[in-house]
Amino acid sequence: MSYRVYFLTLGCKVNSYETAAIAKLLEKEGLLQTDDPKEADVYVVNTCAVTGEADRKSRQMIRRARRVAPTAIVVAMGCHTQMCREEDGADIVVGTDDRPALVPMLLKRLELRKELPESGELDAGSRFFEYGSIPYQENTRAVIKIEDGCNNFCTYCIIPYARGRVRSREREAILSEIRDSAKEGYREFVITGIHLCSFEKEKGRDSTALGELLDEISEIEGVERIRLGSLEPSCLTEELISMLKRNGKICPHFHLSLQSGSDSVLKRMNRKYDTVLFRKVVRDLRAAFPNASLTTDMICGFPGETEEEHRESCALAEEVRFTHIHVFPYSRRDGTKAAAMKDQIPVDVKNRRTSELRAISDGMEEERTGDFLGKDVEVLVEKMREDGTIEGYCREYVRVLANTTEKTATGDILVGKVTGNAGPVLTGECFTHLRDAES
Ligand code: SF4
Repeated sequence: MSYRVYFLTLGCKVNSYETAAIAKLLEKEGLLQTDDPKEADVYVVNTCAVTGEADRKSRQMIRRARRVAPTAIVVAMGCHTQMCREEDGADIVVGTDDRPALVPMLLKRLELRKELPESGELDAGSRFFEYGSIPYQENTRAVIKIEDGCNNFCTYCIIPYARGRVRSREREAILSEIRDSAKEGYREFVITGIHLCSFEKEKGRDSTALGELLDEISEIEGVERIRLGSLEPSCLTEELISMLKRNGKICPHFHLSLQSGSDSVLKRMNRKYDTVLFRKVVRDLRAAFPNASLTTDMICGFPGETEEEHRESCALAEEVRFTHIHVFPYSRRDGTKAAAMKDQIPVDVKNRRTSELRAISDGMEEERTGDFLGKDVEVLVEKMREDGTIEGYCREYVRVLANTTEKTATGDILVGKVTGNAGPVLTGECFTHLRDAES
């Protein structure tokens, strides 16, 4: 008899990657994925704990799983369960690094269809859990996880407790997964981790280890684009930036996690940089990649944030001209230092500051897309419409809609001139295949 598994994934790209990996492991055991939660024999909720709100949602989704699929085995896994260690309503609870235990536990339970008392070992691990070569696809991109854990202990974040300290994936495993994905036709690779810049930190390496890995990746046949996940500004040394520039396949889109534009707030957050360093990194990146898109995350209403500190954040955001800012109101997360800080900011103030910063982001996004008018962009095609319009992202990670008269398939790379912009989207005419355009 074959069983069906339904996955509900909350949170970040790493969680999506891990869901895909677990799905593949279960598939090997004959458990096939279903899109219909009601017909699931197993309902997996891959939880998130990055904020108090994420915790709340994780609990809610686990309860919902029980309601929607009353006869299914409900599995709760991920960062939230790593922290809370048990979860009402779930039959099996695993954290972030005891996932190897999940498959045998599940098989045993399916076989016996009776209560098993144990939950997995919940210690955040000391080694990278290797899923094997299991590409996780995000549209036409393959997402590749190279590292887990974080040593930074930002005062608002639970991740170092939930996922443990930095441990890196073996280079050969990373390269082998990318070789396999490239053979399957993937041309763009998103390199991700919880704290990407810490790759091989446990081996005493600095951020040039990441640069070396990216060089090795760029030599693999079929790899056309390498996109980096979120980067902490402090790791973007002049040396790493020149390695990225020399590489030639790095997409000029960098997500620099800023969080606040106020030095006093950054200090209270225990971030490892100040605004002077942040500005320098932005200058160095723009010198190396003149048309780069810079995106960021910012938190509004961190404990004790004054109006003046909020204004400093708004001013730095405008000065940098980010392509997009993911703005979050501060969410109190039990177990973190920030949760115990005095001067928690009232919800209405947090919301008002969030709206102000979002308005700045929206304005800059429109202005930024205007910079592309008249310029050539390369688009990796994600969708084809019947009228011949292609949809996809350019190397700078801006969405493009363009028409072409050429026979085109998903995954092709086309090039052409930007003739218009509508909000965050670029438009163009008569795009042609990259190789045709080059010849
Ligand atoms: S760098 Fe800070 S915010 Fe990012 S995962 Fe580590 S502790 Fe959390």
